Order: sequence, then C-alpha cells, then structure tokens
Amino acid sequence: MEQTFVMIKPDGVQRGLVGEIISRFEKKGFYLKGLKMVSVERSFAEKHYADLSAKPFFAGLVEYIISGPVVAMVWAGKNVVVTGRKIIGATNPADSAPGTIRGDLAIEIGRNVIHGSDSIESASKEIALWFPEGVAEWQSNLHPWIYE
Ligand code: ADP
Repeated sequence: MEQTFVMIKPDGVQRGLVGEIISRFEKKGFYLKGLKMVSVERSFAEKHYADLSAKPFFAGLVEYIISGPVVAMVWAGKNVVVTGRKIIGATNPADSAPGTIRGDLAIEIGRNVIHGSDSIESASKEIALWFPEGVAEWQSNLHPWIYE
C-alpha cells in the first residue's frame, strides 16, 4: 500500500493540534504505520529540506523546524500522497481551502503546522530518512469497510 511521510511541525505540537491532525487522517481511513515525537538537529532539518536550500526562506524554515519537538508519522492507504496533500491544504494557509488542516488551523506560510510528502518518490526518501528503523506492518480489520 502507498505510504507518505507526515510531520506535525513545532507550532502544531505547541498549539495542541496533534490529536486533531491525527484524527483527520485516521477518520479518512488511512493507516498509521509509524509515529514518534522527535527534536531534530539542525543538520537533519537541513537534510530534510535540502531541495529548498537555495530559497530565501531556507534559514528561517530550518530555525522553525528545530524550534521544538515535531511529530513524525508514516500514513498508508490508496493514493495517500495526493490525498494527504489535499487534507493538508495549500502551502500558504491564506490560499488553503476551509476544511483542510492549514485552511482551518493556520494563518501564515511560515507557521503552517504540518508537512506532507509531495510525491511518491519524496515520500520514500523522507520515510527512509525519518524512520530508518522501519514502520509497523498491519492492516485494520475494518479494511473491507473502507476499501471495496
Ligand atoms: P509544502 O510544505 O506545502 O510542500 P514547500 O515544500 O514549497 O511546501 O515548502 C516547505 C515549507 O517551507 C512550507 O511548508 C513552509 O513552512 C515553508 N515555506 C515555503 N514557502 C515559504 C515562504 N515563501 N516563506 C516562508 N516559508 C515558506
């Protein structure tokens, strides 16, 4: 089954949004396969966002990600990468539709509470980076009630 990497950023943790965010993915029918709270080193944050290293906001982004613990997760399910991005909403909360996580819970682009992989390829890279120990292999008994 397709997997994606989702991270609740330090503002999401500090604001007590962990349960709310997990609940949205869970209720959709996706499976939680990995979960941990971690405070990452600067070099790790730089590696995670390496593709953005030339952007003017890169330094601020790294400061933001290392400013407190994050909740790192792996979610699985049909089309979870694309659908997960829809659940999360547009990068800038000012453009995120109501009903999305960023549309409902955030205001500024630099405090947009959550990260989700943007492709199957980046999902597999990010899962390998954040969960080198691997993730849980399981499937809910409710599977036939969610998937036909
Ligand atoms: P996404 O997180 O939606 O995949 P990007 O990969 O383009 O978006 O950017 C990564 C993160 O960098 C964003 O979620 C946001 O926290 C931050 N970011 C992006 N663009 C800006 C910007 N113009 N100013 C400040 N922070 C930004």
